[in-house]
Amino acid sequence: MSRVIVVGAGVVGLTCAVRLLEAGHRVDVLARDLPLETTSAVAAAFWYPYRALPQDKITAWSRTSYAVFDALADTDPESGVRMVEGTEVFTSRQPDPWWRSAVPSLDRQTALPAGYVDGWTFPSPIVEMPIYLPWLAGRVDELGGTITRMNLKQLPDVDGLVVNCAGLGARLLASDKSVVPVRGQVVCVEQTGLETWWVDPELNTYVFPRSKDIVVGGTDDEGEWSRTPDPATAEEILRRAGVLVPGLRGAQVLGHKVGLRPVRPAVRLERTGDVIHCYGHGGAGVTLSWGVADEVASLSDQG
Ligand SMILES: Cc1cc2nc3c(=O)[nH]c(=O)nc-3n(C[C@H](O)[C@H](O)[C@H](O)COP(=O)(O)OP(=O)(O)OC[C@H]3O[C@@H](n4cnc5c(N)ncnc54)[C@H](O)[C@@H]3O)c2cc1C
Repeated sequence: MSRVIVVGAGVVGLTCAVRLLEAGHRVDVLARDLPLETTSAVAAAFWYPYRALPQDKITAWSRTSYAVFDALADTDPESGVRMVEGTEVFTSRQPDPWWRSAVPSLDRQTALPAGYVDGWTFPSPIVEMPIYLPWLAGRVDELGGTITRMNLKQLPDVDGLVVNCAGLGARLLASDKSVVPVRGQVVCVEQTGLETWWVDPELNTYVFPRSKDIVVGGTDDEGEWSRTPDPATAEEILRRAGVLVPGLRGAQVLGHKVGLRPVRPAVRLERTGDVIHCYGHGGAGVTLSWGVADEVASLSDQG
């Protein structure tokens, strides 16, 4: 078993670190931003294969993560993962989603809000990132790994393996300009007693209940780098969410967040010599995390 440096302490880097440690490697994580400062900390975070390709690999990785999250929700509530039923709604009839085989059940919904004609209901993991990221970091620590803040100008040149989980940082660290930011803004509002999630993909509107608040979104601005929440956008998000879930109207706003999704034409997961690249998970880094981490661990043994 060898020494592994994981670059990046978002959900992808930490999950890879856990799987590599479980495989018996000595693992040190280096990151410019610590877990709660990353894009991953902004994620809603709902299991859903969104803005990531290619579809066949995304479906397989998402299926693996679904099973892990389902088990975690059952066995380790401290992880911040819960299985929550909810509905995705449409204004026209839809075929089954391309990722259908990633979820054990998906039922056509007939009790739809006004204005919608189709929808499906399924239980999905909701992963509360402010709880889950520290829990993952704790797993890294328990397994003997380390997490150190370090702003790198290039991937480390070490005797061992380097796993590049730098997200958007791959633009610099892997000279890969095909990873682009897709800005997402969300509003956190008070928990009004909502117990189910709702998604309207046509209006890019979603409502995810967490234990102490509700995350309401969203936006999807390609090539936009600003991390400052825009008040007019927040108002528009709340207006759309109030149409989808009328019970949200007037809910107290607790905060605003912006993150830059690392979108790439296809997720890069490959080994080149002593470097494994694992980045470009777009709007689905949480959804893909356990699936890609398993593959990284398996590539680590193929020297
Ligand atoms: C509003 C919003 C909502 C979202 N909702 C969901 C959701 O519901 N479900 C879902 O699955 N996904 C969701 N996502 C997408 C998800 O957040 C990303 O896919 C995921 O965070 C990517 O994780 P990552 O670990 O690859 O990158 P990041 O979280 O960005 O972490 C990258 C790490 O690399 C480090 N790094 C970068 N450059 C360097 C450098 N030069 N030196 C050292 N370290 C470096 C960073 O500091 C950081 O630690 C959402 C995103 C946004 C913005």
